Amino acid sequence: MSDDINKDNNNSKEDKNKFEEICYLCRRPESKAGKMMHVPGNICICSDCMQKTFDTMGHVNNPFMDGTSFNPSMMGFAFTPETSNKTKLKKKEEKVAKKEKDSAQGTIDIKKLPAPHIIKAQLDEFVIGQAHAKKVISVAVYNHYKRVAKQDQDDIEIEKSNMLMLGPTGSGKTYLVKTLAKLLNVPLAITDATSLTEAGYIGDDVESVLSKLLAAADNDVERAERGIVFIDEIDKIAKKKSTNNRDVSGESVQQGLLKLLEGSEVEVPVGATSKNAMVPLTTINTKNILFICGGAFPDLDKIIKARLNKKSSIGFSADLKDKYDEDPNILQKVTVEDLREFGMIPEFLGRLPVVYALEGLTKEMLMQILIEPKNAILKQYKKLLALDEVDLQFDNSALEAIAEKALEKKTGARALRAIIEEFMLDIMYEIPKDETIGRVTITRDYIENKGAPIIEMRGSQSTPLLEQNI
Ligand code: ADP
Repeated sequence: MSDDINKDNNNSKEDKNKFEEICYLCRRPESKAGKMMHVPGNICICSDCMQKTFDTMGHVNNPFMDGTSFNPSMMGFAFTPETSNKTKLKKKEEKVAKKEKDSAQGTIDIKKLPAPHIIKAQLDEFVIGQAHAKKVISVAVYNHYKRVAKQDQDDIEIEKSNMLMLGPTGSGKTYLVKTLAKLLNVPLAITDATSLTEAGYIGDDVESVLSKLLAAADNDVERAERGIVFIDEIDKIAKKKSTNNRDVSGESVQQGLLKLLEGSEVEVPVGATSKNAMVPLTTINTKNILFICGGAFPDLDKIIKARLNKKSSIGFSADLKDKYDEDPNILQKVTVEDLREFGMIPEFLGRLPVVYALEGLTKEMLMQILIEPKNAILKQYKKLLALDEVDLQFDNSALEAIAEKALEKKTGARALRAIIEEFMLDIMYEIPKDETIGRVTITRDYIENKGAPIIEMRGSQSTPLLEQNI
């Protein structure tokens, strides 16, 4: 047995020269986690995880193994008190340094918070349209961080402004939240409600959303506690209608999310998304985490229409029955009652006080998305070709044709990239072949496969346009 151990240790020493060792529990490499300890079986464990394991053992109410009498050498590896003290000292120093760093830059200064109109102006640079949603989100975020900053200073508690964002697919829900997190420089975790299930069932526990946030904050708990969690596809966890089975992925998940939305202390595994017994846990307080839930809510429009029709078909002000049938932005008339009828439980809705809807994208908006945002997709292609000293142009009819094609796909702005990539492939392949080409103009005919783009040679921009087949 002891020969085996020695052999293992020798092997691990040889390996050490070749690769960086990785902690078996938290998966951090030696360069990040510090010196590794070796356990029989060629397993490396960092001192933090080792310490956590001992702490856990110390808590176990075991008459044969209390924290004080436990000797690590029982497990077959050397862990001298000297090392343990050193580790503890190092950890203490690190903690103090971290606290100092946080107090220097971590606290939120109300005066430095960007005002709602500034947040909106910054969002305008990236997100087209959605003026109402941008306004609501800017105010809610501003209030949220004001609340975080003000917290300990008086007794009036400002309520959390978690949000529920409705909107058709591809209308910019995720994009809006991503842009916001980038502007505010806070960690963001994006998760899908469809992957969540009630604890104990196959799927992720609701706490896994916090593990993602912690990872996005580089395992810095205090930064994570001021982050944003975006839960997409929230409509998929609506209460199932008339089911005899236990609803482990619908209503139960809503119930599970309640405590996170409201603010509570949650034990979260570090470096993993499931609560594995061997992964160190840390506690996250969700009090200051901003939760934004988003979903397309298909068929919610029918519920809203039914309610509106019912209201407008009685009395003197009776309207035509099909008045709301053609309204593309019917979702903006949503009320909490409609959402309850859809299957969201009242307690859940009560914890999402800010509810708003995004508009469905129109042809004009799609055309703007192609060219206007700071990192617009066509700007990116222009830049790529400019590196080959070729000027890429799109005429207005081409933009229209792309937007029309995207509208047909009914996936919002998501369809744009696929359409563009399809026709840009030939251009990106053929143009660099010929160094005499100075300008390429994409036309509607080219998008609709009816003709070629217009090619102009270098130095002949003033001469009539020359058409070439590429
Ligand atoms: P969803 O509403 O389904 O979450 P996304 O936000 O993921 O849609 O949108 C998909 C992509 O479409 C984004 O990455 C973004 O590039 C583009 N997009 C969608 N809406 C807009 C918008 N209003 N302005 C600019 N780009 C947008």
